[in-house]
Amino acid sequence: MRLRKAARVILVGAPGVGKGTQSERLLQRFPQIQSLSTGDLLRHNVKARTPLGIKVENTMKAGGLVADDLIMRLISNELYKKGWLRRPGDPDVMTLSSTATNAEPASYGELPVDLITSTAALDAHAPPVASEDPSASFILDGFPRTVTQALTCDKIVPINLVVSLKTPIDVVIERITSRWVHEPSGRVYNTTFNAPKVPGIDDVTGEPLTQRPDDNVDVYRERFRKFQETSEPLLEHYAKKGVLWEVEGMTSNEISPKLYEEFERRFA
Ligand code: AMP
Repeated sequence: MRLRKAARVILVGAPGVGKGTQSERLLQRFPQIQSLSTGDLLRHNVKARTPLGIKVENTMKAGGLVADDLIMRLISNELYKKGWLRRPGDPDVMTLSSTATNAEPASYGELPVDLITSTAALDAHAPPVASEDPSASFILDGFPRTVTQALTCDKIVPINLVVSLKTPIDVVIERITSRWVHEPSGRVYNTTFNAPKVPGIDDVTGEPLTQRPDDNVDVYRERFRKFQETSEPLLEHYAKKGVLWEVEGMTSNEISPKLYEEFERRFA
């Protein structure tokens, strides 16, 4: 389905609610949308040993958050490269060609010197302009993570939809704890809807199944608590801006149709 308006979207959801699944489905249904993941961009930089990659490697390994100014540079550089953002007065390349470039992810070394990197710098400059061409539609994954990032993001690219994906925590825990894996092959079973023929045994090899350490309930509860702590102020911020939309469902299949309908209503 084709969009008539540019969708600039953030998906927010606790680990295990199926953010990745919904994101993939949206990209399939609306081919003009692309996704941009700060985690992927950072990992690419680490792998390519760019100055940014070297700088953030230890923080990422320790599971900490990368400094806001580095994240802002990374994301704004990527948006400029794709033509989704331009400086005031520059032509809208999206409207000229209507094709997004498949540029390589940003590297710290390539940044233009006048790149806007902080709220203070933004206040001092004419703000960049986000392309309104539907081909400049994107879903951001993993960004903004903090209210500070959201404030700067507001000045660079006005997000026009924040989707809060909600599944009751008990349902997610039930889903996670019913997941069993055959490690050598990577085959995944689920005792609720895709159970092995013999409990705890791989159908093909007869070898024992195991559960992943992060499928543990206590580990999950802790990740959920951390998610709530950071996402609440973020959601509040977007609620105040009037772009927050909540969708609830027990499964991804229950959520997807509601999500499609809302996208069509707003952007198609
Ligand atoms: P992710 O793939 O989204 O889980 O991100 C992997 C790691 O990249 C995180 O644990 C952080 O260290 C870093 N990271 C990704 N996005 C951000 C962000 N918006 N702000 C700060 N750090 C981030």
